[in-house]
Amino acid sequence: MSTRSKAIVKSAVKNLASAAGCVIPAASGSRILMYHSVGRREHEMNVRPEEFREQMAWLAEHGTPISLRDAMEGRPGVAVTFDDGYLDNLTEAAPVLNEFGIPATVYVVAGRLGGFLDHDAPEEAAQLMTWDQVRELESMGITIGAHTLTHARLSKCSESVQRDEIVGCARLMEDQLQHPIESFAYPFGTSADYNECSRGLVRDGGFRCACSARYGVNVPSRVDPWALRRIWIDRTDSMAVFRRKVLGRLDLLNALDSRLALRFRRILNRVPRDV
Ligand SMILES: [Zn+2]
Repeated sequence: MSTRSKAIVKSAVKNLASAAGCVIPAASGSRILMYHSVGRREHEMNVRPEEFREQMAWLAEHGTPISLRDAMEGRPGVAVTFDDGYLDNLTEAAPVLNEFGIPATVYVVAGRLGGFLDHDAPEEAAQLMTWDQVRELESMGITIGAHTLTHARLSKCSESVQRDEIVGCARLMEDQLQHPIESFAYPFGTSADYNECSRGLVRDGGFRCACSARYGVNVPSRVDPWALRRIWIDRTDSMAVFRRKVLGRLDLLNALDSRLALRFRRILNRVPRDV
């Protein structure tokens, strides 16, 4: 499917969820935003710097920014997270987060720091931070979380490989950063990308919670600390869509994690069938 057709389908899905969201009141709970990179690269998961700044300015004024530690209990508010550990998280995102006093967590792929992700195509790959840059980010008040050693699709790995990717990642990060790592994020993050074994190993690794990429709000009475829901933000989101996502008017996008919707998303994203 072409990029343009894909954008049209995504826009139609958002409009449909938004129309329904106008008549259904938004649930109260934590909404955890999931970003990847902030910069100029032409990649769907990248948000342009001026748009990120506008989003954070709006969030500081109209939202209730909270830490991930508060979000894991379902406290009403909005937490900000980034996956993968791109260098632009330090150079572009962190100064803006600091300017508006917004707490954030960055999940790093610990075994790939200083290099690139295996699954980023060469023409759209972005540099990951080095360990020194991760420490610098931490010194700016950003919390660092774990995102495995190699960005493995955990559900397709044996238990021993999963243990390396999850517990081994925790030990390496503790060694490098000299403190326990509290939270973890499952690579890719849909319900098809991790399993019960992954959840158990995250607990064994000493983490206090784990983020998925399943869309939605974390309601206090039903919060699952080992698979927190998140709200993905990408370059196709206009400011109006961003506001609707934060305000819970697009919560029905959580239907995208159903079996049928996952199949559709696989076709849309051209992900291999065995995923
Ligand atoms: Zn990732």
